[in-house]
Amino acid sequence: MDVVIIGAGIMGVTFANIAKTMDPNLNITIIERLDQAAGSNSSVFNNAGTGHEANCELNYTPVDEEVISVEKALTIHAQFNVAKQYWAYLVNQKIIDDPATFIHPTKHCTLVNEQSINLLHLRHKEMTSHHFFDDMQLSEDFDQIKEWIPLTMEGRSRDQKMAATLVDHGTDVNYESVTQQIAEHMVKEQGVRIEYSTHVKRVHKSPSGSWLVECLQGQEPVQFRADKLFVGAGGGAFPILKASHLPVGKRFSGFPVGGRFLLAKIDEETAKRYNAKTYGKAAVGAPPMSVPHLDLRAADGKHYLLFGPFATFSPILEKGRGLLEFLRMIHLHDIPNLLNVAKEHFPLVSYLFKETFKGESAMLATLDEFAPGLSKKFEWEIVQAGQRVQIIKDGDLQMGTEIIVSEDQSYGTLLGASPGASVSPEVMLRVVQQMFPKLSKKQESIEVFNEMFIESDLDKLIDDADRYRDVRQKIDKTLGIRG
Ligand SMILES: Cc1cc2nc3c(=O)[nH]c(=O)nc-3n(C[C@H](O)[C@H](O)[C@H](O)COP(=O)(O)OP(=O)(O)OC[C@H]3O[C@@H](n4cnc5c(N)ncnc54)[C@H](O)[C@@H]3O)c2cc1C
Repeated sequence: MDVVIIGAGIMGVTFANIAKTMDPNLNITIIERLDQAAGSNSSVFNNAGTGHEANCELNYTPVDEEVISVEKALTIHAQFNVAKQYWAYLVNQKIIDDPATFIHPTKHCTLVNEQSINLLHLRHKEMTSHHFFDDMQLSEDFDQIKEWIPLTMEGRSRDQKMAATLVDHGTDVNYESVTQQIAEHMVKEQGVRIEYSTHVKRVHKSPSGSWLVECLQGQEPVQFRADKLFVGAGGGAFPILKASHLPVGKRFSGFPVGGRFLLAKIDEETAKRYNAKTYGKAAVGAPPMSVPHLDLRAADGKHYLLFGPFATFSPILEKGRGLLEFLRMIHLHDIPNLLNVAKEHFPLVSYLFKETFKGESAMLATLDEFAPGLSKKFEWEIVQAGQRVQIIKDGDLQMGTEIIVSEDQSYGTLLGASPGASVSPEVMLRVVQQMFPKLSKKQESIEVFNEMFIESDLDKLIDDADRYRDVRQKIDKTLGIRG
């Protein structure tokens, strides 16, 4: 069976590897417009590299009139556990020799000021009653917080009342590195083809029922045929869905949110001393993906601090692509939906416009509010991050992701952006299962599936503390996260 995957980011590459490992007979080709894998949103500084498992992100535990909801946090934590199972499998199989090339143990902290201390206590109380978060610590003690996350406290006056939580076994993940290592393995060992520098312009179904994928390879038009087509093209998935003529495509359009970070190189000693990702509280009117955070990042043996993101309104599908491509995606029937979103989410749109024009000094001032005095301690540069294209479905703006699989299971795609690369193996596993339902019944596929995923049932991980602890202990050890 011929399978074509559009996009060699973490989603496309993970999809390819799971499918090919479960059925070695699949003939897989990945088509990528850039000249490398993980060159777009999955590239190391195009995202923040947080292994999102809800340890520190307040937006995963929304509060409504003093009632906190932790369901989303539990799901994301379980999804990240499944991701770690898959990455541990890659290490066990020597597909990745050294987990330290892509995953690093890092403290995950939340830091809030006086206005949100009660909220943090509420969150801590609710979360520590579940086995996922039972070792989360909370402190209001200035010196204790300073010991946990020194860079955010050293320049702060002791009069400022603050509170923080700490989970000391979170992670920083280099999604570019893990993606490239899987891609290299698939090309060398699994017979997967990757066609780089090949831009998909149009897809359509032929009368015989297969998909024809029309591309430009440089200036050369080329065409690929597929029995199954998976589109993991980030923001580029929207115009391809429209071009597919699947009726469902009419229900979707995209709302682009870009981002910038402040980035500073730091020495190893500072990295060891801080070794944390500290998340704060989003400003009023800010979208959930704008929660400010100060992250230790590791890449190619060097250490960095990353602060942001500063959201931007840039009407493009992906970093590096033009406005025209975005405008071409918009069909006449999308216009009322876009206008409706602009009207209903006016505070968000005006927030994005304001943030877009924030200059360097205003960005450094925001950093100093979060970590007083830090702007002067290091040499900061502004880096353009990746581009999220949020889903507009039937006129409603959504912040999550959506899997779409056509009725005949020949076309699958992932739209939206959150919580992103962290959950890619769990999400891609679901797409593979939906597009290749027969695989779950073949004995050889089941055996290899059980090696890849020790426990992929999210409810089981959420409800069965012993099972969860057993799985976590095995995979964290393999990945070098704890003992
Ligand atoms: C500012 C920011 C911060 C983030 N922080 C985090 C974080 O801390 N933790 C986390 O887990 N996630 C984070 N994310 C989300 C994460 O980056 C994405 O979820 C993830 O990288 C998406 O992977 P992907 O493979 O879908 O997309 P991509 O990595 O963008 O891959 C899509 C690929 O498709 C290719 N493509 C597109 N169109 C075409 C076409 N027409 N023809 C051929 N190829 C095409 C592109 O070139 C690209 O290589 C963040 C995102 C942003 C923007």
